[in-house]
Amino acid sequence: MTSFNFSTWPPQLTPEQLEALTLSATTYALSHGLLYLPPSQSPSNTQPRIPTTAIHAPLSLIPAPFPRAQFQAARELQSVYNVLYARVAMDTQFLDTVMGAEEGVGKADEFTGTLWRGWKKIREHGALAQPLHLGLFRSDYLLHAAEDRLALKQVEFNTISSSFGPLSERAAAMHRNILASTSYFSASPHLTADNFPENSTTSGLVEGLSKAHEAYGVRESVQTFARILFVVQPNERNVFDQQWLEYELLEKHQIHVIRQTLTDLAVSASLDPSTHALILTSPTNSSPHEISTIYFRATYTPSDFPSPSYYDTRFLLERSRAIKCPSLPLQLAGGKKVQEALTRPGVLERFLNNEGAKWGARALDLTAHAADIRATWMGMWALDSEDVDIVAALDHFPDSGQAQGSVPPGTRLARHKAPSLVLKPQREGGGNNVYREAIPAFLDALPAEEREAWIAMEMIETPRGVSGYLVRASPSSSGTDNESIEKKVVRVEVISELGIFGYALFGEGEVVEREVGWLVRTKGTESNEGGVAAGFSVLDSVVLV
Ligand code: ADP
Ligand code: MG
Ligand code: MG
Repeated sequence: MTSFNFSTWPPQLTPEQLEALTLSATTYALSHGLLYLPPSQSPSNTQPRIPTTAIHAPLSLIPAPFPRAQFQAARELQSVYNVLYARVAMDTQFLDTVMGAEEGVGKADEFTGTLWRGWKKIREHGALAQPLHLGLFRSDYLLHAAEDRLALKQVEFNTISSSFGPLSERAAAMHRNILASTSYFSASPHLTADNFPENSTTSGLVEGLSKAHEAYGVRESVQTFARILFVVQPNERNVFDQQWLEYELLEKHQIHVIRQTLTDLAVSASLDPSTHALILTSPTNSSPHEISTIYFRATYTPSDFPSPSYYDTRFLLERSRAIKCPSLPLQLAGGKKVQEALTRPGVLERFLNNEGAKWGARALDLTAHAADIRATWMGMWALDSEDVDIVAALDHFPDSGQAQGSVPPGTRLARHKAPSLVLKPQREGGGNNVYREAIPAFLDALPAEEREAWIAMEMIETPRGVSGYLVRASPSSSGTDNESIEKKVVRVEVISELGIFGYALFGEGEVVEREVGWLVRTKGTESNEGGVAAGFSVLDSVVLV
């Protein structure tokens, strides 16, 4: 238990120190590829954008305080989470029940339903050519200040496009560098090198991708010539985060990467009729390439599928012998609804049994960790829930029996507890949730048949009074060239979200997995949301306290 007083953070800076620190931080970022593409003036919905100029990623000047014990605990739990989500993805019956379009959330959520139907059709045709799945995961946490102690609580578990590994490594390196090169950090006794943990997420994520590539290449010729495909969004601004993975794959593992959008793939991708190998051909390059592994940095949101044919392309990729990161079942396993379903009595415990499958070189006592995993969860339930515990919880609210007609207990409880809740749909990428006071009006407007698409989650109440200096490069209204990019530094009260990265390569047998690094994103408390890409938060690192 830390006795750190969060409201004393950060140490005071004079205006001169602030200016010098901002210059050091942004210069470091520009020198080390801690970069973003500026907003596009002419969005494309087909080809990947060609970078011509870059800006530094949104940054925090001074790292966020985080208790050492909770930071370690989050890292240690990651292996259990890696195995848990591997097992969820392998449990077809569970996914059908929870995410499917016949019994589960896919009935009410069109996007989830479409992905599930595509997967079902493929497996019913016996067309799953690849038994292995790769997950590059990120488990996200906030500190919950409850009853005078701080607890680590999970926000969500991402199984697709878990981003900011390489940029978070560089944000940590930036903080270490400005610590070493300036005197400002002597302002606090906490700001010592020992309190800045290592971050080598890039090599860890790339290890996962390279292990999939090796596992695919049964023949040496294939291993040498096959490539990894990155499926990217045409208007992606976070391209440098992806490039760092690409460089590391080539430089450390001699693996080439091809970047394409779903639009490109509609033309370039085909399956070898006998082996189901995914082959990419290009009109400008006569030699086609076999793909060992497909890394999806797109296809997590409905806008990635502007017409039904885009789903056809996604399903073609699924049918191939390439290892998918993630496969459709692993993408579905990352749904908010799965997170909620796991909290129900006995569900987690069923997945975390020590029998059956093998995993990793280290034996994990999964059963023994079930309680630790549960301890990271906030209360969650479905808006259409009629479970006994939800009905029992309604008893605390005397008016709940009246005039509610057919409104299910889960929705009624959400209305009563709205000030301490967030509602989440089955979406990724930020900007989709409904918070606290906005909930009652939202519930009034929500059609009954859409309730099932949402979960209610208790809000994590983070320690208050912590401030941070957030730096953004933003193009001014006067033009689009580099000269007109302004820097904005604000000192605001902040919330910092910790993400722990891990990978898992799995199939019917062993799970090869590892915890590989971490990320901190910091946002002003005035914003409920947290995504960097969505513009709500900045990249940060930790100072352990
Ligand atoms: P997404 O998949 O879109 O990133 P999240 O579940 O991570 O969805 O929610 C987005 C943001 O909303 C989080 O980064 C966090 O800042 C905030 N948030 C989500 N759930 C909670 C919660 N239970 N308590 C407090 N903040 C939350
Ligand atoms: Mg999130
Ligand atoms: Mg997410």
